[in-house]
Amino acid sequence: MHTKFHSKSIELPPAINRLSELACNVWFSWNDSAKSLFSAIDPELWEHSGHNPVRLLMEVQRPVLDALAHNGEFLNKYGTVMEQYDHYFRTPTWFEQRCPEYAQKTIAYFSAEFGFCESLPIYSGGLGILAGDHCKSASDLGVPLVGIGLLYKKGYFRQKFDAQGRQLAESAACHVSRLPIVPALAPVQSNPPAERTPEELYVSLPMADRTVRLKVWQVQVGRVPVFLLDADLEDNSSWDRELTSQLYGGNQDVRIAQEILLGVGGVKALRALGIAAGTYHINEGHAAFLSFERLKEQLDNGLPFHVALEVVRASTIFTTHTPVPAGHDAFPLPMFEYYFSRLFAEYPHAKAALTELGWDVHKQLFNMTYLAMNTAALRNGVSKLHGHVSRDMFRAFHGNIDVHEVPIGHITNGVHLQTWLAPELKELYSRFLPETWISRHTDKEVWKSIDSIPEESLWSVHLTLKKRLFAHVHANLREQLRRNGMPSEKIEAVQTFLSPEALTIGFARRFATYKRATLIFSDLDRLNRLVNHPDRPVQFLFAGKAHPADHSGQEMIREIYRVSRMESFRGKIILLENYDMSLAQSLIQGVDVWLNNPRRPYEASGTSGQKAAMNGVINFSVPDGWWEEGYDGTNGWSIENHDHADPWTQDRENTESIYRLLEQEIVPLYYQHGPLPAQWVARMKRSIRTLAPVYNTDRMVMDYVNETYIPSLQRTQLFADNDYAEATKVADYKKFIHQSWHHVRVLEVNDTPPRTLNSPSGTTSTAPLKEVTATVRFGPIWYQDTAIELIHYEERPDGWHQVVVPMEPARQLGDGAVVYRAMIPSHLKHGPHFSIRVLPVSANFARRFEVPFVTKF
Ligand SMILES: *Cc1c(COP(=O)(O)O)cnc(C)c1O
Repeated sequence: MHTKFHSKSIELPPAINRLSELACNVWFSWNDSAKSLFSAIDPELWEHSGHNPVRLLMEVQRPVLDALAHNGEFLNKYGTVMEQYDHYFRTPTWFEQRCPEYAQKTIAYFSAEFGFCESLPIYSGGLGILAGDHCKSASDLGVPLVGIGLLYKKGYFRQKFDAQGRQLAESAACHVSRLPIVPALAPVQSNPPAERTPEELYVSLPMADRTVRLKVWQVQVGRVPVFLLDADLEDNSSWDRELTSQLYGGNQDVRIAQEILLGVGGVKALRALGIAAGTYHINEGHAAFLSFERLKEQLDNGLPFHVALEVVRASTIFTTHTPVPAGHDAFPLPMFEYYFSRLFAEYPHAKAALTELGWDVHKQLFNMTYLAMNTAALRNGVSKLHGHVSRDMFRAFHGNIDVHEVPIGHITNGVHLQTWLAPELKELYSRFLPETWISRHTDKEVWKSIDSIPEESLWSVHLTLKKRLFAHVHANLREQLRRNGMPSEKIEAVQTFLSPEALTIGFARRFATYKRATLIFSDLDRLNRLVNHPDRPVQFLFAGKAHPADHSGQEMIREIYRVSRMESFRGKIILLENYDMSLAQSLIQGVDVWLNNPRRPYEASGTSGQKAAMNGVINFSVPDGWWEEGYDGTNGWSIENHDHADPWTQDRENTESIYRLLEQEIVPLYYQHGPLPAQWVARMKRSIRTLAPVYNTDRMVMDYVNETYIPSLQRTQLFADNDYAEATKVADYKKFIHQSWHHVRVLEVNDTPPRTLNSPSGTTSTAPLKEVTATVRFGPIWYQDTAIELIHYEERPDGWHQVVVPMEPARQLGDGAVVYRAMIPSHLKHGPHFSIRVLPVSANFARRFEVPFVTKF
């Protein structure tokens, strides 16, 4: 794999000249000692730079650096950090040990956003943070992954509020020269001679009536290189230059063009880098056009379309994140045809088939999620519940089968432990957990020792983090008020806001309407009694950005702002500006309770609560997304929920449960008598112990490796071997099935009345059984390439479940029909109780129901 990594050349004193290498690898962002080293150079500048070490090194006064180069304490610190850094790259990894045979392969991970650290504003929320955490864990585990994304020069916006609580979106421009981003370099050929300096890398792609040129940049995330594409080049038209300026900015035209740059441009960039990826991971539908480019490559390679499609499918994985159809990108046909006009002119015969891959017949739109679904053999949702919701949503893709059989799995999201766990807690855990706990944090055994941490120690670290958060809150508010021209006594009064003794509840996330940020304001009198209780007060912190085009999200911000300025809530309900990774860290480490009340089941997973949990911050959440599986009755609180067709009823019921749990359980538990709330601390420990080992990205990336990357790499290899012999066989077989399936008929089902069976004496046979036979005709299809199953339903405490009884061939009839038999409980009758189904099977399918033909009788 070509991952040559070069850092910026920043002139530094020789004794500390590796600081530039350290600054150019995002590794620093999840290593507390590296961050504290940069902070030690110039604490004020470190803060001012937005925790950007490249900018820090470029702007710090040279005499400061010269002095540090002679400062023994600093040099010691520097030596320790560089030793840790080198050790990181030397240590054998999980992946090398798990599957050395795949160490030379590459997994290409495509995402429209990546959140690595607060100084790189190329993320908007959960999806980006997840992608960033995925890369970090892939690096820690040694998974040979490369990321592909876009370099948004104007970044995602910086948020401010005016004196009326209106959100102002300020550009957070990416000054590439002052960020840990370097130009990617073209691979150096061994011939011409090696002394030739490598060149910066550009790729071009056809789009609409023109060619767009992209520059390829690189961010190094530990071992994992992430390549970012940038259209802001003089060769491009001014419209094209703007395409990579903003994340989720602009209209549908900008959207489709961005997605073409990401998908098509991304594959071209990999080729130019000399990376022949073995498998491709589409992280949300935005990147699905990568399949178009890969199909085109296979057509150029001489494969017929149906074989090319099998090759692409075998090596593609799709993760869907959006539980509502309206959230999926879809484009009108003329727009789609316009942007791909050059491709279609070159491959006129493939146009219909390519369009078909994303075509939504009902809406008459080209849908990116459909394209991803149709070109990825392995698909997954991001929590157990979301897997179910996705299977339900995409049932129609698979013909007449039960929802649980729809071939979409789930891998529950996680968070990167080293990024989100407070340094003080890392230290505390290190004192009580086994020595290697950080590298083994997916092992539940390791976390049992949480119980041995003295209550006072955990509580005292928690209070430290709470006070640090409050200092950040005060600074954030002072800045807000100063800018809005408040008198200085009002600004000074901020210092008196928030009491470290008071129960503090945090709510921060994107202000998307389904997250219902203002739900807790439904009954302000009841809220007032909680907040202003004389001995047991409660205080709330809110933060979050609303997309600049989302007016109802911005309305929610104004509503929170309005409530926070009411006399009774002033200084007790607080709205903070500019929710980013840095503010998120402070919040999820420093509050007591993390509130999450989305309208179920709209939160596919949610991850901020996972960050909170590992820090001993207790979750208080609707059982949606990850919390539906994370909550065990003892490790937090679950808000009562019944899914309703009528959202207002659901809102009302959830609100009632929120108030009741606060009044009757949460507040009393927190305000226990004694030097510390022992029961509360016990719950913190339960939360850490049960949730931290599971809801982290090491576990998640291991799941992706075991369940998707390895199977996909194997299948990719199998399909490519012997000049695509296997792919051709599978593709031809599927084509044949498509053409011949109409011959398949269940001719007769013989549902004989029960006869007494000789059950061996001594057994207590319960229900009597009977034999059922089914006669099936196959036409030109070989009977062994099918499965014959008897389907009935069984009532269990949690509802009706489908039972599948495989039928065995019993005899062949003269006309080629085959009689199958099975034994079933004798009270079941064909028609009302059971049916027979026939489906095509093949050892070479990635999974069952790969071909959407199921004949039922
Ligand atoms: C973790 C995180 C998110 C995602 O939070 P959810 O609870 O999944 O909505 C969004 N923004 C930032 C800045 C985060 O750190």
